[in-house]
Amino acid sequence: MCPMANFYDLKHYIAHYINKGRCLVSEKGKITTFSERVYDRRGNYSEQFNHFIDRLLESGEFFHLYVEGDGYAFSDLIHSRFDLEYCVRCREPIPVPTNGALGPPACYLCPEFEPQQEAQVS
Ligand SMILES: [Zn+2]
Repeated sequence: MCPMANFYDLKHYIAHYINKGRCLVSEKGKITTFSERVYDRRGNYSEQFNHFIDRLLESGEFFHLYVEGDGYAFSDLIHSRFDLEYCVRCREPIPVPTNGALGPPACYLCPEFEPQQEAQVS
């Protein structure tokens, strides 16, 4: 198992949501915010964002965090295989575990997630 293989995707996913104004939440409910620029002018991660992630990794806190609203802790994502796919509803990147995923991927991050609205079309 190579945790780092997932890390680049994971960072991409975190950057995307932080850039959209979400914060990170720990398992104990502690909120971590990042209010500086996520990307630099060329679209790379900013130095501040790289430092932010590095600091979380060094403290060990990183693995207990979630993107606000999502159902996967970063430790789940980094220790199991997942693909970043795009939600068909909100078109945001969402992590989808590669094993045991049946049916459409669950998206916890849709602004209006209402599964019961899927009407049968005949
Ligand atoms: Zn969605």
